Amino acid sequence: MKFVDEYRNAEITRKYVAAIARITTRPWKIMEICGGQTHSIVKYGIDKLLPPEITLIHGPGCPVCVTSVDLIDKAIALAANPEVIFCSFGDMLRIPGSHSQDLLSVKAGGGDVRIVYSPLDAIKIAQQNPERQVVFFAVGFETTVPTTAMAVYRASQLGIDNFSLLVAHVLVPPAMELILAAPNNCVDGFLAAGHVCTVTGYQEYQAIAQKYHTPIVVTGFEPVDILQGIYMCLKQLETGRVEVENQYARSVSYEGNQTAQRLISEVFETVPRQWRGIGTIETSGLRLQNEYSKFDALNRFRFKDTTVQETTDCISGAILQGIKKPHQCQAFGKHCTPEHPLGAPMVSSEGACAAYYRYRQLVS
Ligand code: SF4
Repeated sequence: MKFVDEYRNAEITRKYVAAIARITTRPWKIMEICGGQTHSIVKYGIDKLLPPEITLIHGPGCPVCVTSVDLIDKAIALAANPEVIFCSFGDMLRIPGSHSQDLLSVKAGGGDVRIVYSPLDAIKIAQQNPERQVVFFAVGFETTVPTTAMAVYRASQLGIDNFSLLVAHVLVPPAMELILAAPNNCVDGFLAAGHVCTVTGYQEYQAIAQKYHTPIVVTGFEPVDILQGIYMCLKQLETGRVEVENQYARSVSYEGNQTAQRLISEVFETVPRQWRGIGTIETSGLRLQNEYSKFDALNRFRFKDTTVQETTDCISGAILQGIKKPHQCQAFGKHCTPEHPLGAPMVSSEGACAAYYRYRQLVS
């Protein structure tokens, strides 16, 4: 199969493993930003193929994991409202809110919670149910923002007034900056997320690389992609170069998808956003522009003012910033499992804890 088999080829994999070993002269820490890359690394044992000098650190690139408890609580409140059909990607249904409740338990209790694959499906549901309010839980990095923007644009064009969004979209570059600016930062180089850069391009990453003197390689998700991305990053680190390079050129261009970018800035503006386990990151979230604010569920529905506490049992903040690995959490595999998750990284298909539980539960 084109673009899959050749990126899982054992011989090419061995060549990159050997090339990495050949050029490595000292310890380096490289962070893969995206949860999809983390899953590939853990699933295929890529970190185990590397020289002991290389440490891979798992980054915060799981949008399901970083959605704030406050927004999960609001989603649960909306889903429990009998007027509302609440539409969400399936990953969000088992993310616990502040009282350990989740969207699945609301659904089990009679709430009209529906799993959709696209916000455009939610638009259809709104057209089919004009007497009900349809709310879409808009979660994801820059990768999923264009379809959300398209849904709002279509709803506006079609005059659909029973559709709104609970917006939880987050942006990658501000999170990378937060990590690099932290006093305890130990990241020497980054593998940036190929699918995010397919939309955004990688021009924005140039300033980050130069400001923090940290090489960035835009990287794909298959084993050969990741090994080639690591090799390109190491070549920069070992020779003292600092650039943004593009391993995922079969999908990513420097400018990205400009049609999608125009649509995103037509519909959304940046705002500070609370990241679960991490805190507020300036300009890391999106909200609807004034012209589209009638589609904002936070404006359409009243919410009680509440202060939300995150559980102290879950160390997801340390996991998401690469400070600790999942098996270093006391609850991992004991009180926290995919069947009974305490935190979002154990639920999400891109969560680091779920990856370690699935592929490496007994390995420390
Ligand atoms: S193992 Fe569970 S409790 Fe521990 S950090 Fe991961 S999700 Fe949180």
